Amino acid sequence: MAIVKDDALVLGRRRFGETSLIVSLFTPTKGPVRVIAKGARRARSKFGSALEPTNVLRIVYYAKENRDLHLLSQADPIQTFSVLRESLLRLAYAYAIIDCLIGLKRDESVAGPLFGMARAALEHIDRVPDEDLEGSLWSFLLGALEDAGFRPELDRCLECGRDAGSEALSFHARSGGILCRRHGIGGLSIGEETRSVLGRCARGEAGIGIMSPRIIAEGREVLRGFIREHGLGRQPFRALEELIRGPKGIDS
Ligand SMILES: [Zn+2]
Repeated sequence: MAIVKDDALVLGRRRFGETSLIVSLFTPTKGPVRVIAKGARRARSKFGSALEPTNVLRIVYYAKENRDLHLLSQADPIQTFSVLRESLLRLAYAYAIIDCLIGLKRDESVAGPLFGMARAALEHIDRVPDEDLEGSLWSFLLGALEDAGFRPELDRCLECGRDAGSEALSFHARSGGILCRRHGIGGLSIGEETRSVLGRCARGEAGIGIMSPRIIAEGREVLRGFIREHGLGRQPFRALEELIRGPKGIDS
């Protein structure tokens, strides 16, 4: 058994036995790590409230060789995102990030950048105005996709290389980007505004501002299709769509 010190983002947790928790973490050195936190559900546990999803921690754990469940020894919160936790809407955006980390296939070499991007995205979701939440999520998803080696082409037709102008475009998830009117038969048609907003998010521009319902619908469809096509795991808009469909609605 080796003692490992690392940072970690809490992805989720479930009960284990009478008093313990199994906690899913994402770390900058190993990517996903599962640990058991013994006694974490006792009233006076040494872990306190550190193991809440979305928290960023400094941890110490005992790594067991050839096992995928390790023993958590220490967990101290570095960031707890208190604003985000008070808002159902912001929490749904945070869960979109978490779902992406759970599902995205990657090797250890991209764990560090991915951890940094996820942490930065949660910081955004904790403090930007409501209208910038969608853009923050898209920037994260496009950045994470690029790191995994899948950057959608958003500037020119994949087939003929023509610059995407103001004409009608379509997005082909399988081919990996946009196609012009002549070449894009059978793809998902998207407006020029949507393409432009996706491009700005891919470049990490902040403050995208209010998006029309059409841009949101088209952009999510592009991202969803791309993530599905490349087998990158869980769908990122699940929590958001459940929130909108749910009995409480988005404003309550
Ligand atoms: Zn073309």
